[in-house]
Amino acid sequence: MSGRARNGRVVVLTGGVGGAKLVLGLCHALPAEQVTAIVNTGDDFTHLGLAVSPDIDTLLYTLSGKANAAQGWGREGETWSFMEALRTLGGKDWFLLGDGDLALHVVRTQRLRAGERLSRIIADFATAWGLGAQVLPMTDDRVATQLETDEGLLDFQDYFVRRRCEPRVRAVRFAGAETAAPGPGVIAAITDPDCRAILIAPSNPYLSVDPILAVPGVREALGQACAPVLAVSPLIGGKAVKGPTAKLMDELGVETSVVAIAEHYQGLLDGLLVDGGDAAVDLGLTHAFADTLMLTLGDRIRVAQAALQLADQVRQ
Ligand code: GDP
Repeated sequence: MSGRARNGRVVVLTGGVGGAKLVLGLCHALPAEQVTAIVNTGDDFTHLGLAVSPDIDTLLYTLSGKANAAQGWGREGETWSFMEALRTLGGKDWFLLGDGDLALHVVRTQRLRAGERLSRIIADFATAWGLGAQVLPMTDDRVATQLETDEGLLDFQDYFVRRRCEPRVRAVRFAGAETAAPGPGVIAAITDPDCRAILIAPSNPYLSVDPILAVPGVREALGQACAPVLAVSPLIGGKAVKGPTAKLMDELGVETSVVAIAEHYQGLLDGLLVDGGDAAVDLGLTHAFADTLMLTLGDRIRVAQAALQLADQVRQ
């Protein structure tokens, strides 16, 4: 492998919380300028008239050091005057919007209404907050993740936040995906000959990664990529660290195991980084084990380095 490729860009397909941990680790393991995050926008929705992009915002907050790490979403040191005032007026309060967070949504909404593209707006936010990494929305078009459940068809945030992932899921849909175009830079990043590795973050495969793969052209680009494609398993000892990944797998009739993760990404991967707590099984795929629980910044860097090491090994 050439030294140039070793120093090349790393592209990450990511959702919010789990993915942002790996992206932050990569930004410390490498010069942040070499990291490109392609982010799920299937969770995006309009709330109280405001355009909210939960996964992109988690990335922006995490990479700029503003995230509330304990909570897993939103900003550190957030204040809630807006929500308190909203409640006194009988406004919808099931989705929490902190005062600082609100500023991001207001500026985004105002610029989208003026006809600007989401990718342009996010690039400007990233510059304003001094991010070295590139944060690319998977598309500038509207793709909406929806869940077919025992309570009927639910929009993503309705399922995830208002109903706390309680309804049983039968299927996941990505409305609008078939006519969506990849965001500017997305295909070029994946097919860049100087790309060192393409990583699928330990994000929810069904709710965070599948919407990205549903954008026409993304799967094909991954198939043509010069760089190895690797995933980091979101399961540790057969369980999700947080969120509905394991519950969803169960409801979709899939065994909650790393084997199912490997099968889910079948045909896409050159390698899989598996947690040491998951039994060694035949994955039919190059894989390596590491402690993938990312509690501290040191953990995030360790997992990023383990993923890069596996990528370099696969590439040789
Ligand atoms: P969301 O978009 O905010 O729901 O977050 P993601 O989809 O990016 O991440 C959710 C997934 O991250 C879940 O399946 C978790 O199991 C996984 N996850 C969270 N933290 C960790 C971690 O420290 N290590 C690993 N391996 N997976 C994690």
